[in-house]
Amino acid sequence: MPFRDIAGHRHLLDLVAGAAFRGTLPPSLIFAGPEGVGKRMAALALAQALNCLAPAGNDACGQCASCKRIARGVHADVMLIEPGDTGSIKVDQVREAIERAAYRPFEGRRRVVIIDSADEILVEAQNALLKTLEEPPPASVFVLVTSRPDVLLPTVRSRCQRLRFGRLAPGEVAQVLMQAHEYGDTDAHAAAALSDGSVGRALEGGTESFVDAREAAAQLLETAGRSEDPRRRLEGARALTGGGRGSTDRDELARRLRAASSLLRDLGVLLSGADAGALANSDLRPLLERLRPSFDGDRAVRAFAAVDRALAALDRNASPKIVADWVSFQI
Ligand SMILES: [Zn+2]
Repeated sequence: MPFRDIAGHRHLLDLVAGAAFRGTLPPSLIFAGPEGVGKRMAALALAQALNCLAPAGNDACGQCASCKRIARGVHADVMLIEPGDTGSIKVDQVREAIERAAYRPFEGRRRVVIIDSADEILVEAQNALLKTLEEPPPASVFVLVTSRPDVLLPTVRSRCQRLRFGRLAPGEVAQVLMQAHEYGDTDAHAAAALSDGSVGRALEGGTESFVDAREAAAQLLETAGRSEDPRRRLEGARALTGGGRGSTDRDELARRLRAASSLLRDLGVLLSGADAGALANSDLRPLLERLRPSFDGDRAVRAFAAVDRALAALDRNASPKIVADWVSFQI
């Protein structure tokens, strides 16, 4: 898909597109940033921009034979390398790419080698790449895509221009889920609020679990907001651990706590009078307005910190039940 259809990263993508069309793009690039935010898609958009037969306004058309072949992964001049069965990228894969990159492009203008999960390139294979990254053949571009750039050899990193992709805004994740993955409004917002700005992460859990997690978190905050009574507080804890529906495992509790964290962050946004466009759970505005009076002052901030500590404790293997009880008294 062309640059214009990629969610988020506007400034960065405009820079890359501009450089591609001016012919000033560095030939060895690292696209670095969290998983699931569109780095690989951006690398493919770059390949399209460099080879499109009918580009318009610093972007590929997305419709011509060349764009379509790149999208289908069958363009002769665009190579996508990724880890094989072993989970690593081996020296043979890298050598083949280097050899092919040495020849003139077969059907397009520029040869583009995209190495996805580049942090999985074995050290021997990274060493094989060094000379090519330093002086790529004239019509070739290498793009290393990675969420862990620091795992790459310093000698590889220093030969590439690094572009940093950030997290997406929850609204952007929700848009992608609705447009490209047929999510409904509620499912998209629930998943986006818990995605940590990553479409990949939003797609990992089932939509049901995200919606459930947000409901449980809302129940916890409503119970805690209404009453200081310890017995009612324990009801909040039960909302976190699944109530009467049996025990809840660690992952589920973590998901619910992250949902609570996201709701509390939104309360902070509302209480500070910031732009409501920044809300991750914008579809739950009525709930947030209901909770707002109870979480005035610095209670939202304190509760947010408590949830953070609970998540950390869970990470350190604390018992889910104890964590749930503790946090329900803290918020
Ligand atoms: Zn095109």
